[in-house]
Amino acid sequence: MDFKTLIREIPDFPQPGILFRDITPLLADGEAYQKAINKLAVFAKEKGAELIVGPEARGYVVGAPLAYALTAGFVPVRKKGKLPGQTLAVQYGLEYGNDVLEIHVDAIQPGQRVVVADDLLATGGTMSATIDLVKKLGGNVVGGAFLIELMELGGRNKLGDLDVFTLVQY
Ligand code: IMP
Repeated sequence: MDFKTLIREIPDFPQPGILFRDITPLLADGEAYQKAINKLAVFAKEKGAELIVGPEARGYVVGAPLAYALTAGFVPVRKKGKLPGQTLAVQYGLEYGNDVLEIHVDAIQPGQRVVVADDLLATGGTMSATIDLVKKLGGNVVGGAFLIELMELGGRNKLGDLDVFTLVQY
């Protein structure tokens, strides 16, 4: 399946000079969505994932069905002030701006095998922050799974020697 035909390019969003890769056409195509998640699931299963951790909001659209496909748990990472329980926070830099991500402190058991997931890997800032949170809670990050990789931004390098699977690359 040619997933790229279902990824729309929107120039100058969310600010001038950014070419936004919009996955909503892929999500709206049931067969493509399922096939895309199944490909990520093959990778995550090979890695022995017990938990999928994803950042809001598109990380949920990828991470939650991925967890379901594996009978693994899903742990949400959220923007500051959204999680109701006690949280651990980390500040991070985005392709466009700065933000704070949080995770519930009791969300991960030490040693649990975690695959982190999101729609898109750009500079790797969001994923580095997410991985930071998981590691601080003692989780064993065994892989990263994404629908899209923007190769020229070098996000993969920022994740060190982590095994990273991406469905399509630009
Ligand atoms: P990074 O932190 O620079 O790797 O950027 C990745 C994060 O920004 C992910 O959570 C993406 O959802 C979001 N993002 C950055 N660029 C795009 C894009 O072109 N399309 C969709 N999401 C994007």
